[in-house]
Amino acid sequence: MIKDGLIQLRKLAGIPVQVSIIQPKGKPNVRSLKPMKPKGITLHSTGNTSPSAGAIAHGSYLQNLENRNKEYKSWHITVSHDRIVQHLPLTEQAYHSGDGEHGYGNTSTIGIEIAENIAYDQSERNAVKLIVALMRHFAFDISTIQPHRHYSNSKKLCPRRILLSENTWKEDWERFKNQRIQRALEHYHSLESIPVWGKKTIKKLISKGYLEGDAESLGLTLEMVRVFVVHDRAGLYD
Ligand SMILES: [Zn+2]
Repeated sequence: MIKDGLIQLRKLAGIPVQVSIIQPKGKPNVRSLKPMKPKGITLHSTGNTSPSAGAIAHGSYLQNLENRNKEYKSWHITVSHDRIVQHLPLTEQAYHSGDGEHGYGNTSTIGIEIAENIAYDQSERNAVKLIVALMRHFAFDISTIQPHRHYSNSKKLCPRRILLSENTWKEDWERFKNQRIQRALEHYHSLESIPVWGKKTIKKLISKGYLEGDAESLGLTLEMVRVFVVHDRAGLYD
């Protein structure tokens, strides 16, 4: 799914993926060019509701920042209602967590921005799918998924659509983590997301018409996949 820090899929959980890496120019202020071994994810939202401020536009914005060589600001991926756009290799440090050049958020986590321009709820659903796919790929524990606010020295309330107030942000995040990320993590919605040991069986069940599902609707839990595999070994589907 990911090679040399770049997403290899043209679609991830049904969402079109575009890999448009920012070109390094002069001062490494967007492209830090510092290697990173990702240990978690920092979630943001763009804070820009202008209809044109989608995922591609944010890529252009980052390229302009890099060209101007002034502000240290960058993140890895923007996800919108209709696509996932990767701006930086996931193996490179970026400046998004607001915890300084040597801060853990900046040096060790993948920065994801949720676009707020169009159909925010869909963008947020796409972000959850992206987060779950990255968690499975990198074997990230749920505790390594944090909001920008968690790291921010200036206590920036971001992602602002998920963290509702300074008083409630911790509970808001817990709720989002448990009800959205954890729940999605417990279900496999596409064949590509099924663990390797279960793929052959699930493929068989789909091809025989015993299971009906597309990228959105498979909805299998790990326990279900286990039971299907045992049944398959017992020859029940032959
Ligand atoms: Zn942020």
